[in-house]
Amino acid sequence: MDEFSLIRKYFNRASERANGVWLGIGDDAALVEVPAGHYLVQTMDTLVSGRHFPVNTSAWDIAWKSLAVNVSDLVAMASVPKWFLLSLTLPEPDEVFLHGFSEGLFAAAGEFGITLIGGDTCKGALSVTIQASGLVDTGAEVTRCGAMPGDRIFLSGPVGSAAMGLAALQGRESLPEPTRIQCIEALNRPRPCLGLIPLLRDHASAAIDVSDGLLADLRHILDCSGVGALVDRDAIPVQDWISEHDAYAYALSGGDDYQILFTVPASKAKTLREQASVSDVALFEIGEIMPDGFEMIMRCGAGLQRESVGKAGGFNHFGS
Ligand code: ADP
Ligand code: MG
Repeated sequence: MDEFSLIRKYFNRASERANGVWLGIGDDAALVEVPAGHYLVQTMDTLVSGRHFPVNTSAWDIAWKSLAVNVSDLVAMASVPKWFLLSLTLPEPDEVFLHGFSEGLFAAAGEFGITLIGGDTCKGALSVTIQASGLVDTGAEVTRCGAMPGDRIFLSGPVGSAAMGLAALQGRESLPEPTRIQCIEALNRPRPCLGLIPLLRDHASAAIDVSDGLLADLRHILDCSGVGALVDRDAIPVQDWISEHDAYAYALSGGDDYQILFTVPASKAKTLREQASVSDVALFEIGEIMPDGFEMIMRCGAGLQRESVGKAGGFNHFGS
C-alpha cells in the first residue's frame, strides 16, 4: 500500500465543510476560515511509542490519546477545538494497525468536535504528532499567568488514576480488578472536559491542563502569576483506593490525567458553581491562591498538618 492510497483509505474522511474548513486533505495545504474577533489558538504534542504510551497500547487507544492530549491544551486556554493536522510515523503500513488507529482517531475527533484537515505520513519508529487549533474570542483567552491572591483553585475531575494505570501495567502496583480497569482506561482514553470551556472563558483567571502532575502544574500557574497557594489535600478528587492506601503521590505527582486546573476570583466562584451544576460540569474546589508560599494542608489523625510543597512537586515536611 503506497502513501497516497493509505491516506485516502484511512484518513480522508472529512468530506463536509464542517468547522469552517474550505479545503481539507488532498491539496498542498488546508484552508480554514478564522472568524474576525478571534484568536487562532495552536498547540502540538508528540507521542512516542514506549515513552508516552506503553509499546503494547492498542492502535485505537494511541490515536484517541494523541488527539485528547492536544484538545486538552486547547481547553486549558478556554478555546473551542476546530482543526488538527496529523503526522504519523509508522514502521510498516500495517493495515490492522491503521484500521484501529483511524477508528480511534475519528471516534475522538467526533467526540471533541474537531476536524482532521491534513498531515504527513512517514516510515520510521512509531510516533504520532498532532497539531491542533482552536478559536477563542479575543480577550476571552485564559493563560497560566492571571491568578491573584484570594482566587479559588478548582480541578475538573480526579487525578492520579492514569499514573496508577501505568504502574499497574508495568507491574509496579497491584490493584483490585475494577480499579485496575478504570485506571488503565484513564491512562489510555483521557477525556478532555469540553463542557468547561465556556465556564473558563467567563470566570477563570488562570488555567492549565494537568499533564505533568497536579503540584508541578499548579506550580506553573504560581510561577507565571507570581503568587503562592494553599491546597487542601483532602479536597482533591481521587479514586477511593488512593485515600484508602494513603497513596497520594499518584494524585499529587502522577501525570497524564488531563484534568483542568484553574483559578477563579472569589467573587465569581458562586456563579461558576451555579453554571457548572446547570451544565452538568464537575468541579472540585481544592484550595486558594495566596500572596506567596506553596503549602498543603491535610487531616492527620484528629488534627491538621501543614506541609510546604517542594520544587520537584514533592513535599518538605516542616512540622505538624
Ligand atoms: P505534500 O507532498 O504536498 O506535502 P503529502 O503527499 O504529504 O503532500 O500529503 C498529501 C495530502 O494528504 C495533504 O493534503 C496532506 O495534508 C494529507 N495527509 C498526508 N498524511 C496525512 C495523514 N496522516 N493524515 C491526514 N492527512 C494527511
Ligand atoms: Mg507532506
